Amino acid sequence: MDQFTAFLLNIALYSIVPLYLITCKPQTRLISLYVYNGVVLFIGSFAGSVYSFSLAENLVLSGGNIAFGAFLMNTIMLIVIERNVDSLRNMLRFVILIEIFIFAIFYFIYWVISSEIAINTFNLPAELFSISFNILLLGGMLIIFELFVLIAIFTQVSKLVSNVTIIAVIYTLAFIFVMCLDGFLFPIIAFSTSPQLTEIIVGNVYGKWLLAMCYSVPLLIFYTVFKHKLVQFIEAPLQIKDFVFMPRRVLLEKLHQYEERDKKLQKEKEELLDVSMQDGLTCLFNRRKYDQELAEQWLKCELNASPLTLVIGDVDFFKAYNDFYGHGKGDECLKEVAILWKGIFKRPSDIGARIGGEEFAFILPNTSVQSCVQHLEKFMQRLREKHIPHEKSSVAAHLTMSCGVASVVPNEESSIKELFAIADLRLYKAKEIGRNTIVAQ
Ligand code: GH3
Ligand code: MG
Ligand code: MG
Repeated sequence: MDQFTAFLLNIALYSIVPLYLITCKPQTRLISLYVYNGVVLFIGSFAGSVYSFSLAENLVLSGGNIAFGAFLMNTIMLIVIERNVDSLRNMLRFVILIEIFIFAIFYFIYWVISSEIAINTFNLPAELFSISFNILLLGGMLIIFELFVLIAIFTQVSKLVSNVTIIAVIYTLAFIFVMCLDGFLFPIIAFSTSPQLTEIIVGNVYGKWLLAMCYSVPLLIFYTVFKHKLVQFIEAPLQIKDFVFMPRRVLLEKLHQYEERDKKLQKEKEELLDVSMQDGLTCLFNRRKYDQELAEQWLKCELNASPLTLVIGDVDFFKAYNDFYGHGKGDECLKEVAILWKGIFKRPSDIGARIGGEEFAFILPNTSVQSCVQHLEKFMQRLREKHIPHEKSSVAAHLTMSCGVASVVPNEESSIKELFAIADLRLYKAKEIGRNTIVAQ
């Protein structure tokens, strides 16, 4: 295995864990991401002085650099998925605590090894654990500064751009930018007096750029798989001023408000969807839903080679009813017919709709003509029993309906249009032979 493959393997190892952790339930996810970030920081501090990959001339990446990239990537995932300034604040506290702990424990190990108070089982050099407090402090401050820069960019971008895919790309570019910024700032502050400062900066930026490019892959996977979380984040992004000034209680309230707003919007969306499928007068499905369902059920039945039956029912002499009893009464009457119509077929796949003024339909997958007619006859009987008076009808003293039924096992030679035309033709046949009847062949 060459160095570059081993380097990529290292990146993959750091990326797989957070990609898995973010699929966990919220409480587990939050805690495990904190812990994982702590582990990454700890390993990074150790790995920084243990191994490095020399990937090209002037391009050396230490185990510590690779861990730093993983830390920043994890934190971005945490910020987006939690959308919570408070959990970010906790993360920063946690970083500071871990950095202090790392410094203390490393210093302690350095001390017990170098002073030979303890047994050094593997004869490790004490220098392995000697980390400069200044460098650690500088690293910690830079991490916090870079997170602020990232949040500032994220917030601005979500105000200016609305396309989620473009935002995901810009967020990834912002991550690459911040990594390169780190590659630039760290040597400027840490090695400002070095005569090779320019060379160090160039090498460092190059290294951080390469790292950022590699970590962009899991980040883009994250934005794609958790697109809905990114959308939620864009709608209620963190604000730097909130982060600095807002008390914890107000922050939590604000977050709660955002969540309530999300729930309300979701509910309204579902209600709107229902309304767009419903007929306002009868609450049956409307023509739009009928067209959509017919196309869907057609494909399903074609796939299963099963029959698809279509019923069209039309109220008899309804114009005369309206003219005599008035339009308002006509509406009431349609509502009553719709209640009876809805009750004829009860399987969830049976779709009853009002497809025109006084025209109703039923889409019946996997239903034979014989069983359909049996059910329709019961409906005709109930309508008779309901006895809605219709003085102007020439066929009965009450309101009646005529129905046409057609059935087909959908295949390439048949079509929805044909099925409808046959049912419609049979409906008119029913009208012709005296109304108040069902024609199914
Ligand atoms: P047929 O027996 O041949 O079906 O005769 P018809 O009078 O029922 O048929 P026609 O198509 O001539 O008239 C249908 C009537 O239905 C015309 C219109 O006044 C009435 N109508 C359509 N939509 C509504 C509605 O939403 N409310 C009410 N009250 N009446 C409606
Ligand atoms: Mg009609
Ligand atoms: Mg009619």
